[in-house]
Amino acid sequence: MPKIASRVSQLTGEGALAVFARSKELERAGRSIIHLELGEPDFHPAAQVADALRAAVTNGHDRYVSTRGIPPLCEGIAEYLKRTRKLDVRSEQVIVAPGCKMALALAMMALIEPGDEVLYPDPSFPIYPSFARGLGGVAVPYALLEKTEFQPDIAEIASKITPKTRMLIFNSPNNPTGTVFKDGVLQQIAELAQKHDLWVLADEIYARILFTGEYKSIWSLAGMADRTVIIDGFSKTFAMTGWRLGYAVAQKHIIDAMDLLVLNTFTCTAEFTQIAAVEALQDITGAVPAMVEEYRKRRDLFVGQLNKIPGFRCQSPDGAFYAWVNIEATGRSAEEVQKQLLEDAGVASIAGAAFGAQGKNFVRFSLVSAPHLLEEALKRIESLSMSWHLAAAR
Ligand code: PLP
Repeated sequence: MPKIASRVSQLTGEGALAVFARSKELERAGRSIIHLELGEPDFHPAAQVADALRAAVTNGHDRYVSTRGIPPLCEGIAEYLKRTRKLDVRSEQVIVAPGCKMALALAMMALIEPGDEVLYPDPSFPIYPSFARGLGGVAVPYALLEKTEFQPDIAEIASKITPKTRMLIFNSPNNPTGTVFKDGVLQQIAELAQKHDLWVLADEIYARILFTGEYKSIWSLAGMADRTVIIDGFSKTFAMTGWRLGYAVAQKHIIDAMDLLVLNTFTCTAEFTQIAAVEALQDITGAVPAMVEEYRKRRDLFVGQLNKIPGFRCQSPDGAFYAWVNIEATGRSAEEVQKQLLEDAGVASIAGAAFGAQGKNFVRFSLVSAPHLLEEALKRIESLSMSWHLAAAR
């Protein structure tokens, strides 16, 4: 029997999907489960977006289209980034893909050679190290620690740069910590990238889900537009996870390379979803700020209450929609806590190791359920915590 290519053995899965499968099994057996495991908004896109999709299909917009994305969407994205992030981007610097993950994969395929070292935050989205390794690269973590509010230590990053380092990845706001990298940190990353001639892959998928201040992209710092690839998309900001729409922004020669990869793989992103995406970018009903306000309320509710439960400790995230919770004081491993939360308390969460070694004593909760469900989850977590204390007192 011929063998599966060795690169596949370098890839890892996503912890959230395994927990989701088990929680569905428990539900089928009649258990009540509150789903705080997946990073999937419980909102749906604005009505105008679905209307635009229906009209596009009715009008026959279901053909092969440009490999880069339809011109109105590439122009719309450039204009949107100017409006919401003050970025000076031209439409030929944009490429559309089916999902941010695909945009991320295209950028990494275009820029990483076998043997290249790729710096990535730990904890973070597990696909960064997985795909870097799949391309024959060496994934090198830099830590985001609780004691420094999950901001990176620039000295640590600098100490890990070698002649083989090709790319530095970061995600701000970060999944799972919710950290927004400070301006000074961005500046220092920019200096390191220029000094050592690195690509910077800035995953800005949560840029709009921000609770304080204005978003600053590393692209806007002097000298950085030439070496930065921005990844963003529609899954989180516009609650369009299943539509599979993402994009990358970079200098034209990088987009040309990614374009050739598109041509050789999926040809193009569906025309009708792209037409609807143009409508989403307009956000004429203000659905995005309303959704962000709702996430802020959920954050305040969940983090505020959770910190009162013995054993659980959580800093308030500045962006995204996750609570990254230290469970060391429960005296249990994160895997045990995840298991008991799900099996005994009916609350689905993810043990932090799914996001990197630094996640060992953490559990991630996605705040993607309505406030009454979050309140119920908090009650269940509190009862579990009480039961541990009672057992210990016996
Ligand atoms: N990047 C980060 C940091 C994410 O958290 C996610 C999804 O959870 C993605 C990328 C993938 O986004 P998409 O669903 O658009 O592929």
